[in-house]
Amino acid sequence: SVTDYDVVVLGAGAAGLFCAIEAGKRGRKVAVIDHAKRLGGKILMSGGGRCNFTNMFASHENFLSQNPHFCKSALSRYTQWDFIGLVNDYGIAYHEKTLGQLFCDNSAKDIVDMLLAECKKAQVNIINRCEFVSLEVNENGYKVDTAMGTFCCESFVVATGGLSMPKLGATPIGYKIAEQFDLDIVPTRAALVPFTLHEADKQVLAELSGISVDASASCNHTTFNESMLFTHRGLSGPAVLQISSFWQAGDSVHFDLSPNQNLQAILDEAQKAHPNSQLSSVLSHHYPKRLVQTLLHYFQIKNKAIKQYNQKELSEVVYSFHDWQVKPNGTEGYRTAEVTLGGVNTDALSSKTMECKSQKGLYFVGEVMDVTGWLGGYNFQWAWSSGWCAGQVV
Ligand code: FAD
Repeated sequence: SVTDYDVVVLGAGAAGLFCAIEAGKRGRKVAVIDHAKRLGGKILMSGGGRCNFTNMFASHENFLSQNPHFCKSALSRYTQWDFIGLVNDYGIAYHEKTLGQLFCDNSAKDIVDMLLAECKKAQVNIINRCEFVSLEVNENGYKVDTAMGTFCCESFVVATGGLSMPKLGATPIGYKIAEQFDLDIVPTRAALVPFTLHEADKQVLAELSGISVDASASCNHTTFNESMLFTHRGLSGPAVLQISSFWQAGDSVHFDLSPNQNLQAILDEAQKAHPNSQLSSVLSHHYPKRLVQTLLHYFQIKNKAIKQYNQKELSEVVYSFHDWQVKPNGTEGYRTAEVTLGGVNTDALSSKTMECKSQKGLYFVGEVMDVTGWLGGYNFQWAWSSGWCAGQVV
């Protein structure tokens, strides 16, 4: 069967649905095709089930891209406040968790339900469990072959996301379509992803699995001061996920395990006030006991009464905690990564409309392109903003 549409969107994720809604509101006849069994699977999983749907402080500075200016236009045309306005219209309860990050009070399902209600209102036809087969250009636009028939359209929108979480339906089809039209792809890699450790580090640090501490993580001139989590495989938590986007294989990461307190001053003070206290008990006022014991062993620091440390030994302790250098073995990869760095090179696209400069009627929105947000609601904001912009013109 052949069905005619004005717009076909491939990928019913955040960006694809948002683009479809806007196009439908303009009276365009829109179909969204997705192979997933369950609609909005990634949104439902996001933010630990509560969807960190945007960030109050979102700006172009929270994104990585070969062209750091590209995202400015879309982010300013459809802002976080526009999306928050929509969430308010639907009466969805939300709160700021930390650092401007907005989460649903109840469930990410509120966001999915809102998107589906908007699709219904805009008469968008969502076709899921539908395998994409091929895309061809014809005299009227595009011919899209799928396992459920052929769709013809004037505008074709690629909204297939990145490679993260193949279990949720991620495939490289968006990059393949870009290659079909000779577009450049910025090399992709897993980002916002936990680090794995070399065996020697892992053997000692796996003891700490489940412990979370305030820490700042630095790599390649970038620092994030949030918290980190020790896991049985390696290192995770917000500071680690953030810095993973700036890390390249072989780099060391520097952790300050006392980012908000000067350990030298704490230890100097303890030498005066409690000279007979063990170092471990002084440190245990600031860290979980299990962490202190394991890290003293890991840093090869002898535990003794605090008065017995000379200045050099004390500064070694301070240095170990304030500037712990680790060389990760790697990352957990796309299996657990929240996003994919790289993607369709933005040079080929209009920053105002997301249309391909060399191919009329072909659009890329969301994570499939080389725009990647930090952790904290920025990736969804990019999906909304880029999807909205394309939705005004497709
Ligand atoms: P996606 O949402 O990935 O949608 C792509 C769609 O394309 C999918 O539905 C997929 O099934 C479909 N598709 C792919 N290949 C094909 C094919 N061959 N045929 C047909 N359909 C196909 N970001 C935040 O801002 N806040 C968060 O709280 C947050 N939490 C996250 C938690 C997890 C576990 C993960 C994995 C990511 C999280 N992210 C979060 C990132 C965010 O989910 C993505 O950046 C965002 O969903 C990208 O939107 P998108 O529409 O571009 O792609």
